[in-house]
Amino acid sequence: MQSRYNEADAKAAIAKYPGVSAEIALRVYTSRLIGADDTLVMHGGGNTSVKGVHKGLLGENIEAIYVKGSGWNLDTIEPPGFPGMDLTYLRKLRALPKLSDEQMVNEQRSHMFDSNGPNPSVETLLHAFLPHKVVDHSHADAILALTNRPDGEALVREIFGARVGIVPYVMPGFALAKLCAEVYERDPKVEGLVLLKHGLFTFGETAKESYERHTTLVHRAEEWLAAKSRNSRSEPAAVSPDSGALAARIAPLLRGLLAEATGNADAPHRRMVLDWRATPAIMDFVNRPDLRTLALTGPLTPDHVIRTKAMPCVMQQPAADDAVLREQLVEEITAFRKAYNDYFDEQTEAKGVTRTRLDDFPRVVLVPGAGMFCFGPSKKDARIAADIYEHTIAVKALVAATGKYEGLPMGDLFDVEYWPLEQAKLGKSKEKSLARQVALVTGAAGAIGSAVAERLIEEGAHVVLTDINAEALTRTCDDIGKKLGKDNRRGVVGDITDEKFVRELFDEISRQYGGVDIVVPNAGIAHSASFDTLDVTAWERVQRVNSSGYFLVMRESIKHMRRQGTGGHIVVVGSKNVAAPGAEFAAYSASKAAAHQMAKVAALETAKDGIRVNVLAPDAVFGNEHNPSGLWQEVGPGRAKAHGVEANSLEDFYRQRNLLKARVTGRHVGNAVVFFASNQTPTTGATLPIDGGIGAAFSR
Ligand SMILES: [Zn+2]
Repeated sequence: MQSRYNEADAKAAIAKYPGVSAEIALRVYTSRLIGADDTLVMHGGGNTSVKGVHKGLLGENIEAIYVKGSGWNLDTIEPPGFPGMDLTYLRKLRALPKLSDEQMVNEQRSHMFDSNGPNPSVETLLHAFLPHKVVDHSHADAILALTNRPDGEALVREIFGARVGIVPYVMPGFALAKLCAEVYERDPKVEGLVLLKHGLFTFGETAKESYERHTTLVHRAEEWLAAKSRNSRSEPAAVSPDSGALAARIAPLLRGLLAEATGNADAPHRRMVLDWRATPAIMDFVNRPDLRTLALTGPLTPDHVIRTKAMPCVMQQPAADDAVLREQLVEEITAFRKAYNDYFDEQTEAKGVTRTRLDDFPRVVLVPGAGMFCFGPSKKDARIAADIYEHTIAVKALVAATGKYEGLPMGDLFDVEYWPLEQAKLGKSKEKSLARQVALVTGAAGAIGSAVAERLIEEGAHVVLTDINAEALTRTCDDIGKKLGKDNRRGVVGDITDEKFVRELFDEISRQYGGVDIVVPNAGIAHSASFDTLDVTAWERVQRVNSSGYFLVMRESIKHMRRQGTGGHIVVVGSKNVAAPGAEFAAYSASKAAAHQMAKVAALETAKDGIRVNVLAPDAVFGNEHNPSGLWQEVGPGRAKAHGVEANSLEDFYRQRNLLKARVTGRHVGNAVVFFASNQTPTTGATLPIDGGIGAAFSR
C-alpha cells in the first residue's frame, strides 16, 4: 500500500469546499482516500475525525471535534458527514467509571453544534480522548491478517516494534475509548494503535501525517505477509465452467429454504435475495480440504457480524442427483439454524440478558464446486455481505498460509450482533409490498413492459428485464437504473420463442438473484389484416411469439417456482381483444385468447403449489413520446384503417370509445401487476380489464 496523498489534490479539495475550513476540507480529502481503498474499509466501516474550533453565536471560540457521522461512507463523505461537537465537554466524560451506550449516544447528540446533523460514530469518544488533531480508523485487511491469530499480539510487536500501542479486544464504546487513551498515554511516541481483532487507529497533527502513518503501517504489514506467504503460495485453482450451471441448480433450492414462513396467508414468505460469486480466489477457498475448519471461525472484525452473521453455512460436496442435493441442502440449513438458535440461547443465558432474536438464516453459504452464495433482504444487502466475505476469504486464506486463524469468541460476536442500540431499531421501518421478491418481465423494453418493471421496482421488487431488442433494453435498463438504482434490475437480451434461451434465462435469474417469484409474460407482436389477406407466415409468426412464447415462459416459471417451493405469481398480459375482438385482427386476437386460456389451465394446475395465475386485459397502450409502443407503431396504420379513422387520431379513438374516456397507460398495467403480485385479494384464474370500461368486453 502506498500513500495516495497528493498536494495538488489536497489544494483542490480546499478549493472545492469554500464554505468550510481547510481543516475540514482536508479531513474530507484523506477520509475519501481511505474510503476508496477496499482493503482498508468497506460499506460504512471505519471512521475519521478532526479537531478544531467552533465559533459560537456570541463570538466565543469552542474547542470542537468533527467525527464521521453514521449513514456516511468514507469514500463519498462530504463536510456535512462530519457533525461537530463540544470537545471540552466530551473529554470530561472520561472521568466517569462507566457510561452505557444509550447515555453515550445521548451525550454525543446533545453536544452537537447542529441539531440536524447525523449521529456521530460510536467511536467518537475514542477520537475525542486522543490528543491529536487528526485521527484515522480503518479495518485494514493486512492488520486483521496479523491480529486474528492466537499469537497476534506478539506478531504485531515483532513487526511494528514500539511504533504502535496494542489494545486487546474490547467492544466499541466508552470502555474501549478509555482503554485506548490509557494505552496511548503509556507511550505517547506511538504513531498508532493496533486494536486486536478489530483494526488500526493512527493519528497526527495534519491529515497528511495521520493518513501516511496509516498507509505506512499497513504497508509494513502487507510486506510481512507477502514475504511469509511467498513459499506457500499455490497456483489458483482453475474455475470450473460447471460452477455456473451448478449455481443455477442450487440457488432456487437454497433460496426456497431461506424463505421464512410467516403464517400470514396474504404474505406467506419472507424471502432473501442472492449475490452469487465464483472468482478464482473464492473457488480456491470453497474447494479447500480444510474449508469447514477455516470457514467456521469468527469474522475478521466484529462489525461484519451484522452483515454476514458470525458463521457461514458450509455445504458438503453437492450431489449430482437432484433429490439428494435437496436433502443435503435441507440438512445443512437445518443444522445451521439449530446452531444459531443454540448460540442465541446460550449467550442470552450466560449473559443474563433479554434480546429480540434475529432470524436464524445464514447470510453466506459456501458450496464446494459452486462458489459463494450471499443473501440479504435485498440485492444491495446481499452484495455488501458478498463484498465483506470476499475480503474474509482473502484474509483467512492468507492467515492459513502464514499461521493459524483465530477470530473473536462467540460471546463478543453476540454483543455486537445484539447491540441494544441496533435492537431498538428493529421492526421500526416497514418494508415495501414487494420487498425481497424477484420478478421477470418479458418484452421489457416496450411501453408496457418497461412501465411494469418500474412499478415492480418501486414496490421493492428486483426485476429481470428481457427483450429481443438489445439496444432498447440497454436504454430501458439505464433509464430505470438512473431513476431507481442499479441493484434492482438486470437486463437479459434474448428471444422468448427459443426454448433453449428461455431455460437459460431462468438459470441466469437464479444466478443473479437466486430465483423468481413474479413472472409477467408480456412480449408480444401484432398483425393487422383481414381474413382473406392474412397469410399463414404472418399468422404463425404472431402465434409463435404471443402463444408459444408465453407458453415457454409460463412452463419454465412453473417448474422454477415449484423447485423453489415458495409459491409465486404469474400475471399474464392479455388483451381486451379476447372479450371484444376487432375486425382485421384475427392473428393477434386468437394468440391472446390462447394466452388467456393457458393462464386459466395453469391456475388450475398450480394453486396447490401456492402459485396464482391471473390475466390482465388492457386496451391499446400507445406508450409515450419517450417510449412509444413498438407494437402500435407497426400495426397502428392497419388498425386505424380497420376502424375507419386517421392514423394520427387512433389513440384518441380508443380513448373516446371507453366509458371513462380514459387513456390506458403502461403504468396502469404495472399497477394491476402490483395488485395481484402483492396478494391484495385471494384471486387466481381471473381476468382484470384495464380498458376504461368497454361494454362489449363486460364479463357475462
Ligand atoms: Zn472499528
